[in-house]
Amino acid sequence: MEIVPFPHPALRWKSKPIVAIDERLRTVVREMFDLMYQSRGIGLAANQVALPWRLFVVNVTGEAEEKDQEFVFINPEIVRRRGNVEGEEGCLSIPNLYAKVRRAEQIVVRAFDLTGEEFEMKLDDLPSRVIQHEFDHIDGVMFTDRLSESARREVEPVLAEFEARFRKAQAAGEIPDDEALKRRLKEQEPAAASAGR
Ligand code: ZN
Repeated sequence: MEIVPFPHPALRWKSKPIVAIDERLRTVVREMFDLMYQSRGIGLAANQVALPWRLFVVNVTGEAEEKDQEFVFINPEIVRRRGNVEGEEGCLSIPNLYAKVRRAEQIVVRAFDLTGEEFEMKLDDLPSRVIQHEFDHIDGVMFTDRLSESARREVEPVLAEFEARFRKAQAAGEIPDDEALKRRLKEQEPAAASAGR
């Protein structure tokens, strides 16, 4: 498992709901947490590891030891958004790029956990921001899509650099072309997986 960089098509994929909480899913979740800690992140969405599943993991402390701060969100919905506030964000898919994003101040999120239990959380501050950021990922939305016009202009050259690097790696055959990557994503969609094998 690895974090795929912008502009990998997985980051533009609208992910499909998970249909089964099984051993494979539990393994993927563990690997996602490990990868997130290694990368010094506080949240990671399945899209970022090229899995088109409505799933993300969060630990706002970023500390692997803080197990009780680990949360898994399966098939999440943001059922309420209140207020709005600007704050700085970064993303493991576009390393070292930070910009201010306007988000709802408080949210209520509903999701399933790894035991299949549904839960609801009311969140403010950093947790609220992280969950809105990760929730965007599973809809194929990047935080850079949500910048003000002037901030967007500032980050444009960095995005262009990422784009150039990715296309170059594709041209060199180090990364499959977009069509092949999209085929792979399609194959990994939950419904297709359960109907297929
Ligand atoms: Zn991100």
